Amino acid sequence: MPPITGRTYLAIPGPSVIPDRVLNAMHRVSPNIYEGEIIGMTETIFAGLKKLAGTRHHAAIYIANGHGGWEAALTNMFSRGDKALGIATGLFGTSWATTAQRMGVDVKILDFGRAAADPNKVAEALKADTDRRIKYVLLTHVDTASSVKNDIAAIRQAMNAVGHPALLAVDAIASLGCDELRMDEWGIDVLVGASQKGMMLPPGLALLWFSDKALAAAAKADLATPYWSIAPRVNAESYWQYFGGTPPTQHLYGLHEVLKMMLDEEGLEAVWSRHTKLARAIWAAFDAWGANGSGTALNITDKAARGHSVTAATIPNGGAGQLRHWLEHEAGVTLGIGLGMALPTEPAYGDYLRIGHMGHVNAHMVMGVLGTMEAGMSALNISRGDGAVEAAAKAFSAAS
Ligand SMILES: *Cc1c(COP(=O)(O)O)cnc(C)c1O
Repeated sequence: MPPITGRTYLAIPGPSVIPDRVLNAMHRVSPNIYEGEIIGMTETIFAGLKKLAGTRHHAAIYIANGHGGWEAALTNMFSRGDKALGIATGLFGTSWATTAQRMGVDVKILDFGRAAADPNKVAEALKADTDRRIKYVLLTHVDTASSVKNDIAAIRQAMNAVGHPALLAVDAIASLGCDELRMDEWGIDVLVGASQKGMMLPPGLALLWFSDKALAAAAKADLATPYWSIAPRVNAESYWQYFGGTPPTQHLYGLHEVLKMMLDEEGLEAVWSRHTKLARAIWAAFDAWGANGSGTALNITDKAARGHSVTAATIPNGGAGQLRHWLEHEAGVTLGIGLGMALPTEPAYGDYLRIGHMGHVNAHMVMGVLGTMEAGMSALNISRGDGAVEAAAKAFSAAS
């Protein structure tokens, strides 16, 4: 097969597209890490990270991917044998909870399948904990596998309504910098993000935020080890303590550029509304493709429960797998695999795909993905309703 000419597009839910100016900001010789501009730049980054999360509390950066971010949070949240309530709304919610279990935390998993968590059920589970042993509720904001979005504020309200003292820990790795997120206003105590999704950077930085309450509780968490302990990172006396060692030098330059783009130039509200509009265009295309009864459909029927950074869908009879292959080899577009829907060894594995639309994305990129999907479905004779690309264009323009 001839090579693809033109820019290829990795449209998977992370790693995402890195803006050229972010790559350029990272393309530099290593700076002095003992004095000089990196010290002040790091202060600016932490202030930006707090603004990004909507918190006046504490931010920390770990050199890790999202899985490392999970463990960084968990080690500072729990002692061996502590109880937690893990809310599962897809593979990532389940994995965070089972990670905690493997670290020695007694996690009860409340599994909602592929639907958003029901705040009343969370409240019931907390009510049943009569001796108030549950220390944390673990929640995924947008589950990248199912593309479910949970209503964090409603869950926090339900927790408050039953008067349970549990703190709320949220995995926002897929939603940070894409979906509306307000740490303090929504009552989040621990928030986990990562660099390679909405944050438009290469993998390598796990981002954590802790409330005052969570930080005070962390002092007693015996799972914490010297490197992962958050206390020295948020109260660093020497620069190296922010990172438990050598700082992630070039990543910091990239992160500084990203925060400038998001907070100072585009503005956080505009970032969120751009993702909303692009998501609506994708949803409109799938509605049209499925309108002929072909079985092509979005994973999540309830619009309010759909994430704005990733879309999981089914194209039956192996159509999703064939289409992914066609797009990769004929159009230079790589779509995401279905995750947590069927095992790679099962025939149904080829019925699912995901589109990542997080971070550095705009209408021409999303319309390009949808247009090439239409072309691929045509080439592969995949049954579908008409007018998907037009419907997407209308949805995008109506939202603008
Ligand atoms: C991507 C992702 C993770 C895992 O991050 P890695 O960098 O792959 O380790 C965890 N949770 C959510 C919601 C994610 O989207």
